[in-house]
Amino acid sequence: MRRPSPPCRPLPASAVSVERRRRGGPFVLMLLGTTSACVACAMWIPDAGDLPLAVAPAQRAKAPPAVRPGTAPPTAEPVRGRPVRPRASDPALPPCGRLTGTPTRPAGFYFADRTVPGQVVLTFDDGPLHGKTRRLLAVLRARGLRATFFVVGQMINRRSYRVIQTLVRDGHILGNHTYHHDLGMARVDQAEARIYAEFQLTQAMVDIALLAESPRQFDGLRRRLLGPRAPVRFRDTLVRTWPAIERRWRAILADYGNASLYRMVYARPPGGNPFGPAFSNTARRAYTRAVHRAGLINVLWRSGTANDFRYLSREERLSPNRIARSIVFAARVGGILLIHDQIPAAGLAAGLDDVIRFSNLHVISLSQMTRRRYGCEPIPPLRP
Ligand SMILES: [Zn+2]
Repeated sequence: MRRPSPPCRPLPASAVSVERRRRGGPFVLMLLGTTSACVACAMWIPDAGDLPLAVAPAQRAKAPPAVRPGTAPPTAEPVRGRPVRPRASDPALPPCGRLTGTPTRPAGFYFADRTVPGQVVLTFDDGPLHGKTRRLLAVLRARGLRATFFVVGQMINRRSYRVIQTLVRDGHILGNHTYHHDLGMARVDQAEARIYAEFQLTQAMVDIALLAESPRQFDGLRRRLLGPRAPVRFRDTLVRTWPAIERRWRAILADYGNASLYRMVYARPPGGNPFGPAFSNTARRAYTRAVHRAGLINVLWRSGTANDFRYLSREERLSPNRIARSIVFAARVGGILLIHDQIPAAGLAAGLDDVIRFSNLHVISLSQMTRRRYGCEPIPPLRP
């Protein structure tokens, strides 16, 4: 059996400094409409139109207690004015390993976190999409930017598996957005087992996406992993079938010499659940135990783009101003911007260009934000 090809090696994302090119005075924010998040992830994302653009320190909610496995690193500030080359990892830091948070909240990044002024992390949810994600990658590549893509397991198929390979090759971070994208998964019976299986199965799908060298081979690996007649959605039986799927997953990896693949270290729950007000602490405890067991760092967000609000006109969804405003707003509240792979690439490109041209924001990586917050190295060692 053939060994996986070189693109399987992760190329960790790192900081990229957006060059400051002031050409026309201060960046003027047009406070029109709203900035918020997705339909697919529909929930209670605060609306930018309802929030102050500048959040005074006294108004900010207290950041969660950081779990520090090692000493805090010197702050790795991006160098303004010239791009920073991707950095694989910081050997001076201890590996993050399994961070633990509280019983109802895994270690990670949350809505009310404090931010470092002028820095923002770009995150894209709900892919991979065969055509749309590729176009976004071209936009980011042309501007030397790197982002984190929270992928959904069931979206990885014979067409989109190559997008996973390109994401890794381009140095972006892959995050885990569960297999079924079920907004209510923390409410079901055996929620902890279900959530754990959702994350692990998505990791397995990423593994076979990186192993496959053709659509036919991907189909064969998927059949072997999930069974010959596995539907795309089988969430109601996942807890029962997971042990067998896991055995087949391990067997596949063993057949490929336990190939060193990409281990995802970041998790994002669909819709931000169970951290919304409609969920109980029981649901949060189940989610937290599952995330801890899977060894993941939880990543929520504070600001999203309105790109996929159905009620917006195409013109509004393509508005560079709206997208640029979302990016600037995210830098002020939490520092993590949620976008979706469905965003029109042209709109994203124009919005990014506005930010690059008229602001001094720095696009940093989630790895960099993790190093600063937790004082550890999130880039995992390759799987032995
Ligand atoms: Zn989502």
